[in-house]
Amino acid sequence: MIHYIMVFTDRAKTVLEIRYLLKNEKGEVIETPEQMFHRVANYVAQAEELYQENPSEWAEKFYEIISSLRFLPNSPALMNAGKPKAQLAACFVLPVEDSIEAIFKTLKDAALILQSGGGTGFNFSHLRPKGDVVRSTGGIASGPVSFMKIFDKASDIIKQGGARRGANMGILRVDHPDILEFVRIKRFENLSNFNISVVVTDAFMDALFKDDYYPLINPRNGEVVKKLKAKEVFDEIVESTWETGDPGVIFIDTINRYNPTPHIGQIESTNPCGEQPLLPYEACILGSINLSKYVKGGSIDFQMLEHDVKIATRFLDDAIDVTHYPVPEVEKMHKGNRKIGLGVMGWADCLVELGIPYNHKKAFQLAETVMKFIKEKSHETSQELARKRGVFPNFKGSLWDKRGTMMRNATTTTIAPTGTISIIADCSSGIEPYFLLAYKQRILDTEFEIINKYLIDFAQKQGFYSEEFINELRQKGTLRGIKSVPLKIKKLFKTALEITPMQHIEMQACFQKYTDNAVSKTINLPQRTKKQEVAKIFILAYKKGLKGITVFRYGSKTGTLLKVSDAH
Ligand code: ADP
Repeated sequence: MIHYIMVFTDRAKTVLEIRYLLKNEKGEVIETPEQMFHRVANYVAQAEELYQENPSEWAEKFYEIISSLRFLPNSPALMNAGKPKAQLAACFVLPVEDSIEAIFKTLKDAALILQSGGGTGFNFSHLRPKGDVVRSTGGIASGPVSFMKIFDKASDIIKQGGARRGANMGILRVDHPDILEFVRIKRFENLSNFNISVVVTDAFMDALFKDDYYPLINPRNGEVVKKLKAKEVFDEIVESTWETGDPGVIFIDTINRYNPTPHIGQIESTNPCGEQPLLPYEACILGSINLSKYVKGGSIDFQMLEHDVKIATRFLDDAIDVTHYPVPEVEKMHKGNRKIGLGVMGWADCLVELGIPYNHKKAFQLAETVMKFIKEKSHETSQELARKRGVFPNFKGSLWDKRGTMMRNATTTTIAPTGTISIIADCSSGIEPYFLLAYKQRILDTEFEIINKYLIDFAQKQGFYSEEFINELRQKGTLRGIKSVPLKIKKLFKTALEITPMQHIEMQACFQKYTDNAVSKTINLPQRTKKQEVAKIFILAYKKGLKGITVFRYGSKTGTLLKVSDAH
């Protein structure tokens, strides 16, 4: 039994004990959360020594923002810091080149990354299509989808001994000859360790808008295999997403317009949840500021936010220096660009504390104000670090070089889903609205009932708390149709399915505007949503300049559970 000094929910304690706190050989937990936070802070602060700074001074600063749950780094940092071969990054992308040797080298690298708690994205578009020639054997190729299945199976096996459930992103370009098989795959097969996304180009979108044909190209020789109507493929994407939640769409030309290091390579893929576009062999360490902790006297305490963003940015930069990379190529690439991704969680909580409904104009304005502030302060920190520690090694020729801005990191901001760290911090996840106000969640053998703590507080203060109210809430999960609740409260606690798709997209766009990398957001739709609506959402997302989009229609089948806690 561990003795808790800090206050955690029972759900957080379970998650911590199952996956995060150190255990002895018998599997008994041997540290408290405070000791874990010290372990993380002390380990990462060791990097300060490399720059002739005082590690213990910085360890204290890191500990303060982490133990107050105002900032948490991504899960691998919490799990692995201080252990032998500590691997601290959550996000990776590996190349998949068109030879058996290269494919299986990547599979091996992916296994090592997965074992260390990271998730990997793969773009399979360089693989020759199904039915194409294999010169060495005189046989025929089995195509990208078949290899993706091998990667999925391998993840199944490795995750059983690893730190957490497998998470991969499988990607194919819209002009690959096997695109239709890829787009439809989740309708017929589980592939439970993969989210899948189609890489969509501007050329494809133009063809779609003109109701034109576009070419499918064999990556082996660059030959046009055939032409398809863009609308035909787009409709298939819509159909599969409507039915299964997969594929998402990645707007690759938009991503590459913001690629800070085009001289090092083109971006082809993102990490598993889509928030982190990366070059082949690149990694990124994420961390999130818990915005629910910054509301003081009815407004946001920007002074404290600035203080914390600066320390958190430095923490993430330090983390790169003390990470043990399971794959040497990744170490070289990550240390070359030094990408970090500071983002936010607890956004829905923050809005409720401020009394602003998630879909109110003021919420969209505040999203921009807050994220702009975070981005500016983290860029300022990266610039200060560049002056002391030097710019990132690939700086020359980068977009930062062209702008004349010294930076220690090619990017500093990303908005992650925060699936598990938000449970530890007991806040709403990422920038998502509440999905339900009362729900049950099973973690291993224990079932937890979660009732929104702010709602209970409001109910008690405003006099609509009663056993009957709680029972009705338990049944419905939202405030819709509960008569005892004032209209104002109903508006403040609107849940994901009561918010229009356009408003979901708007919120994503507000945050994206001031985020270097991308934004994890699910456009949640009610079950009754029509396919045309999904089509409209994809087109609007493209026109709004988003880097990608994930849609999930309530009740549609899905094999992946990435967005839910990965602790069960
Ligand atoms: P957390 O809250 O655990 O820090 P997030 O839900 O914010 O993680 O996810 C951030 C990134 O971490 C994902 O996009 C993915 O790259 C990686 N990741 C998440 N879950 C897993 C998992 N089960 N296995 C491997 N990597 C994961």
